[in-house]
Amino acid sequence: MRCVVANWKMNMLWQEAASFCEAFMGGYTPAEGVQTAIAPPFPWLARTSQEVRSKGVRVFAQNAHFEEKGAYTGEVSMAMLRDAGCTGVILGHSERRTLFGETDEALTRKLAAARSHGLLPLLCVGETLHERDTEQTFAVLKRQLGILAEAGAGPLWIAYEPVWAIGTGRRADANQIREAHQFIREELRVLMGEAGEMTPILYGGSVTPETFDEILAIPEVAGGLVGGASLDPGKFLSLVQTAQG
Ligand code: PEP
Repeated sequence: MRCVVANWKMNMLWQEAASFCEAFMGGYTPAEGVQTAIAPPFPWLARTSQEVRSKGVRVFAQNAHFEEKGAYTGEVSMAMLRDAGCTGVILGHSERRTLFGETDEALTRKLAAARSHGLLPLLCVGETLHERDTEQTFAVLKRQLGILAEAGAGPLWIAYEPVWAIGTGRRADANQIREAHQFIREELRVLMGEAGEMTPILYGGSVTPETFDEILAIPEVAGGLVGGASLDPGKFLSLVQTAQG
């Protein structure tokens, strides 16, 4: 299975999002074996879901809280995401880890909460440039994936996103992607047994329509988590069509 996910981050007013949906859905044809998802900002989850669900495009949130409900001003629960039409949630994006102090402990609870509400967690892992330069890449990936040891069985997608390649125009080279994906696959086998064999591992970090073909050809790469290029409906459509072959 291949997966292509648009991460809009904190971009798009509703008029822009609506235009995106119209243009993208106008050209989109579903294909067997390829899942497409869009992760808009919270206020547009329900409306985006209404625009795209007829053709099976999934809507993911970019984050959520692990608590069920209560006095957590500014937070959004997994149940609310379900109510808004989401079927998945991005967890542990590097921007959440570095800018908002998201910890592995919180992610462990978020993962469990997502699954208990029937949401597919898309867990992001990846090293900073300093960590790569000091040869800590595999140790970092191992630590970030370690939360799966407590998570038990359940659906999961992983995105390998080297932090230095996100939004920088500088994507990892084929060798770096292959090594990291193979390492992640090995870890998933150890942590999850047979289920670790089937878990899709996406690559994220300055993916463009020009480079996606080459990235998809790398062993263990099951698709892409795309930021910048996913804001343009033509580019995102082209990425999805590349994944569809
Ligand atoms: C991302 O936000 O997950 C991402 C990979 O962004 P970009 O494609 O812009 O590097």
